[in-house]
Amino acid sequence: MIDKKDIRAISKIELRDFFVANGDKAFRGNQVYEWLWSKGAHSFEDMTNVSKETRAMLEANFVINHIKVDTMQRSADGTVKNAVRLHDGLVVESVLIPTKTRTTACVSSQVGCSLDCNFCATSRLKRMRNLEPGEIYDQVLAIDNESKLYHNRPLSNIVFMGMGEPLMNYNNVIKAIDRITSEEGLGMSPKRITVSTSGIPKMIKKMADDNVKFKLAVSLHSGIDNVRARIMPFSKNFPLADLRESLEYWYQIANSKITYEYVVWGGINDSKEAVDALVKFCKYVPCKVNLIEYNPIDDGEFQQASDEAINLYIHELTKNNIVAKVRRSRGKDIDAACGQLANKEA
Ligand code: SAH
Repeated sequence: MIDKKDIRAISKIELRDFFVANGDKAFRGNQVYEWLWSKGAHSFEDMTNVSKETRAMLEANFVINHIKVDTMQRSADGTVKNAVRLHDGLVVESVLIPTKTRTTACVSSQVGCSLDCNFCATSRLKRMRNLEPGEIYDQVLAIDNESKLYHNRPLSNIVFMGMGEPLMNYNNVIKAIDRITSEEGLGMSPKRITVSTSGIPKMIKKMADDNVKFKLAVSLHSGIDNVRARIMPFSKNFPLADLRESLEYWYQIANSKITYEYVVWGGINDSKEAVDALVKFCKYVPCKVNLIEYNPIDDGEFQQASDEAINLYIHELTKNNIVAKVRRSRGKDIDAACGQLANKEA
């Protein structure tokens, strides 16, 4: 038996080529592509304007893998968390975050995560596999539907801040975003999409070279190498000097401001020296800073810093003309907040 490929993992051009290689017309590829993406077909049987023979041929070569929202939890603050079951039984989570004017989808890019940030629940799961483009797209679609259902409006923004490191699954993330932004998909502007990375310099440069149009966020958490390595051990291999160089390169090409995500922990990065290091790092490339509230994942070494420490950050950043905002967590009661996605229910 051949190992059948997920048909939604291939591009429109590849699909057209497949039909030509099998003695059919290229436009058949367009037809099938439309069924898969615009019409959301769950089986080849659904494709009623495609001949029986062609459907059988597709059936013999491909599968259509769809996600299933297993459980949906709603928080008192309106946040919704979906536990999403994949075709092989693994589970990822995605979150709908409503505000007065926006609905944001926070989606996962990997099952588990390849990185080892000590303060993040997902890192405990290790990386089980990358998500396919269709599995990323379907998470977005599910949240778009929930947004229409609960808030009478479509999804307005997407952040890749769920489980996983998007730049370690770069090709599939790019394919998913292509579909989200294309007319055959959701037709969403790339400016409403933010990819958040722990900071992988080589991939940040690649994104710039690829001329991507979405926004970039970087989980910085410290402007001092050895402190950063303590909280994000993998970053030993990516010193801040390299990260800085890649961000300068990004800005030169993309001309798009960077958002730094930053959690302040007591005894770790709450000193004046830590604040000064962040201010210095922020001067390299136009940016803004989101100070994220810490969501404890256990009672280990990480504790939310005092209000005084947060205020010192805000004061110093603002004094240096750097926009800084404190981001309160949403959906804590259902474990849907940053760093809490770890399949408790699965
Ligand atoms: N791997 C990507 C995206 C996933 S994490 C990245 O690192 O950016 C999304 C955001 O949640 C990151 O900024 C991360 O630093 C933050 N985060 C992780 N665990 C957290 C926790 N326990 N409390 C608050 N924020 C956390």
